[in-house]
Amino acid sequence: MGKRAKRIGIFGGTFNPIHIGHLIIATAVLEEKHLDEVLFVPCALPPHKGSGELAPGGDRLRMVELAVSSNPGFRASDIELKRGGRSYSVKTIEELKRRFNRGEEFYFIVGADSLHEISTWKDVERLSGLCDFIIAARSGYPLRGLSAESLSVGKEVFRRLAAGIVETPVIDISSTEIRNRVGEGKCIDYMVPEAVAEYISRKGLYQKYEKKSDAG
Ligand code: ATP
Repeated sequence: MGKRAKRIGIFGGTFNPIHIGHLIIATAVLEEKHLDEVLFVPCALPPHKGSGELAPGGDRLRMVELAVSSNPGFRASDIELKRGGRSYSVKTIEELKRRFNRGEEFYFIVGADSLHEISTWKDVERLSGLCDFIIAARSGYPLRGLSAESLSVGKEVFRRLAAGIVETPVIDISSTEIRNRVGEGKCIDYMVPEAVAEYISRKGLYQKYEKKSDAG
């Protein structure tokens, strides 16, 4: 068999905490796009979110590690946590390209909700030249009828984004919902892997936060 370039998916997120929505999507795109591995990259400080109820980076990373350890195609990366500060994806991809450096192909995985705020990302033109996009479906964020104008991006970036849309299961779960449920003393079984639920409970994460709306 001819040797082909390794295909690596980069799945960045707050992972506060990681949940089955993340895992099901990563599984679907690994299969659909024939990726060799998916790197889960918890951010240090998310560029587009407040950090009010952000669990410590070490805890978020540990939960990702617990969630992915049984899957040989999944790996947790501390690249953004080590770098610290606001986590810009373009920097992460550049750093990963330098580290791997064997002609790998990189795919940047995002949910449809992130797509809607893409015009606010740092250096999106440059990012789109560094890797291909993989866009996963997300409840409440339709992927039909989008245009360069509606996303406020250039035509070429839009073409590259549209080419990355992948049919994935729609899993209506968010980290916000998990945090709210923990804060209310409700059960999160099956919404996160068992080891993650145990970790949250053992460390007392998300228990002291006030209920937040899941709207945004
Ligand atoms: P929060 O509720 O705290 O805003 P979140 O559930 O959106 O968090 P993130 O860690 O911020 O989780 O998401 C990381 C990436 O995963 C983003 O690109 C996001 O769009 C995507 N994502 C998260 N949950 C889902 C889901 N249920 N379906 C599709 N994509 C998702």
